Amino acid sequence: MTECIFCKIAKKEIPAETVFENDELVAFKDRNPLAPVHILIIPKRHIASINDLMMADAGLAGQMILAAKNIAKDLSISEKGYKLLFRVGEWGGQEVPHIHLHLIGGARLYEDIYPL
Ligand code: AMP
Ligand code: ZN
Repeated sequence: MTECIFCKIAKKEIPAETVFENDELVAFKDRNPLAPVHILIIPKRHIASINDLMMADAGLAGQMILAAKNIAKDLSISEKGYKLLFRVGEWGGQEVPHIHLHLIGGARLYEDIYPL
């Protein structure tokens, strides 16, 4: 398996500002935040994109969404609301080929300044 930047973050080979971790997942601050809160939730196991998810990964995908919900609560953005985003492939704007769920919030994301 080719090493990728998010695999390296999962293995702590490069630093990240981690906000949550368990056996399956790591969540860390995006280095180029698009809003006041911008967290990336990744599986520790390399999966390139949503296109590569198998039925056997259903539990893992569910864990990613539930982790996002819990982190949003921890960061006090649950009540006002937030966005969850998976980019998929070139036309979806996915730059890092290791599946990641964006948790974006802390502002009114439907305003023009946040064209997400
Ligand atoms: P995407 O366009 O969906 O592939 O998003 C990739 C995201 O990863 C971008 O928002 C980048 O700012 C973020 N990113 C890339 N490298 C790092 C890193 N080393 N630490 C934190 N965030 C990163
Ligand atoms: Zn990877």
